[in-house]
Amino acid sequence: GFYIAPQFLDRLAVHITKNYLDLPNVKVPLILGVHGRKGEGKSFQCDLVFERMGIEVIYMSAGELESPDAGDPGRLIRLRYREAGERCRIRGKMAVLLINDIDAGIGRVDGLTQYTVNTQLVHGTLMNIADTPTNVQLPGSYDSEPTQRIPIIVTGNDFSTLYAPLVRDGRMEKYYWEPTRDDRLGIVAGIFEVDQVARGDIEQLVETFLDQSIDFFGALRSRLYDEQVVLLIQNIGIERISARVVNGTEALPEFHRPDFRLSHLLEVGQAMVREQQRIQELRLVEEYHQ
Ligand code: ADP
Repeated sequence: GFYIAPQFLDRLAVHITKNYLDLPNVKVPLILGVHGRKGEGKSFQCDLVFERMGIEVIYMSAGELESPDAGDPGRLIRLRYREAGERCRIRGKMAVLLINDIDAGIGRVDGLTQYTVNTQLVHGTLMNIADTPTNVQLPGSYDSEPTQRIPIIVTGNDFSTLYAPLVRDGRMEKYYWEPTRDDRLGIVAGIFEVDQVARGDIEQLVETFLDQSIDFFGALRSRLYDEQVVLLIQNIGIERISARVVNGTEALPEFHRPDFRLSHLLEVGQAMVREQQRIQELRLVEEYHQ
């Protein structure tokens, strides 16, 4: 199975559980903010933790909150928060509200360093819920029953772009996620587990691409199948591949095990690094011409 970093599991499990306990004279922040470099497995591991704990999750993405079709994003958050409370009550299990990539949606500050209206609404609503988690009302209605307290987890890249009062200690507990060497080994070994790649090869692979984020290794594994997919397209024909794969009556083709030897893994990895560099160069050229 996939690997969860022990510290990651602890931090999430403690935050969630604490929010369901009644600790004497202890103020527990409602929100846990998991931040760190993109592609290092924050959202992925959140899901693994929820699955391990067998708890209910209500998902939101900040992109969806910031979308012009979102309507009132404050209302949407309140709605989902209350929905999580219902879910907790009906299923008799803990529930959490997860907002992925929060800074991608609402942390964006435009050229005039003005927050958009939606951004302000989202920040305001989250602060409000964090301050009165058992009294979360929908606009235009009043429910005298207390609302179930639901821990909120947000993930993001750079919390310095968020409105500081939201990130304040009383409201948000912060966890900076950066996998250690052991975590990276464990995670990458998990990614290649079904392929039975030797432990020593995993170590060399991780050592060789030490500054790459975790998603690089997931992408690398997926790349290994590209050669077979290319062959499949050639065999069936580019004009017929669509019909064959989507509504063909024949079973889908089976793929043989790609070449998982270390030398091949390194070769594919190097090719990916070259592509990253090309994008980097193009970006530099573009900046130069601005
Ligand atoms: P972040 O939220 O930090 O930007 P993600 O959680 O989206 O990063 O992770 C990026 C990708 O890396 C995932 O889609 C998955 O393919 C891979 N990945 C991350 N963590 C793990 C893990 N523990 N086990 C296996 N794959 C992982």
